[in-house]
Amino acid sequence: MFLGHYAVALAAKKAAPKTSLGTLLIAAQLPDLLFPLFILLGIEHLRIAPGITVVFPMDLYDYPLSHSLLAGLLWSAALAFLYYVIRKEKRGATIVGLVVISHWILDFITHRPDLSLGFGTGTYVGLGLWNSLAGTLIVESALFVIGIILYIRTTKAGDRIGSIGFWAWIGFLASMYAGSFFGSDSSIDTLSTILLMVGSWAIILWGCWADKHRAARDV
Ligand SMILES: [Zn+2]
Repeated sequence: MFLGHYAVALAAKKAAPKTSLGTLLIAAQLPDLLFPLFILLGIEHLRIAPGITVVFPMDLYDYPLSHSLLAGLLWSAALAFLYYVIRKEKRGATIVGLVVISHWILDFITHRPDLSLGFGTGTYVGLGLWNSLAGTLIVESALFVIGIILYIRTTKAGDRIGSIGFWAWIGFLASMYAGSFFGSDSSIDTLSTILLMVGSWAIILWGCWADKHRAARDV
């Protein structure tokens, strides 16, 4: 899943208005931030497999450290604990932990059965939404719109970075997602993996920057 993870981070702002969108984005994307790093380190593996699902042409055959259910629970506990140690705020820490777990749940809905439950277990799960182009588009778009609505009901722009910067970021995410259906030159060499990592972090920094220029609404 792509937009759905960003949607959860945006929506989570309603539950934890004091928590930075940057932190919520890291939580929502944590497995996908770790995955390219683990690929570069040779710990996890994938291969190009056109047609393996209708939407996503990669065989994600070995990524238990970033994407198994057990790893998700451990990363969730780790990030929630880290957040609590730094911020001393229980509510925010709880939401951060739940947002990390949401990544696995959304991927479980989306992926073909390639998500393991534990490290090295033989059970792989996934409901395979990626086998339906229409289904994928409807679910991703609906989640994204709901996330945006909840976020803008919770925060208001303090200046142009908070308004134009935020909407430009939303537009960029939507167009990146739309573009992913056309660019079929997918490759998984070192350079493209590094670019993916840099791009993912740049998107988070951009969202975090716009969020810093928005204030919580008094409701
Ligand atoms: Zn993922």
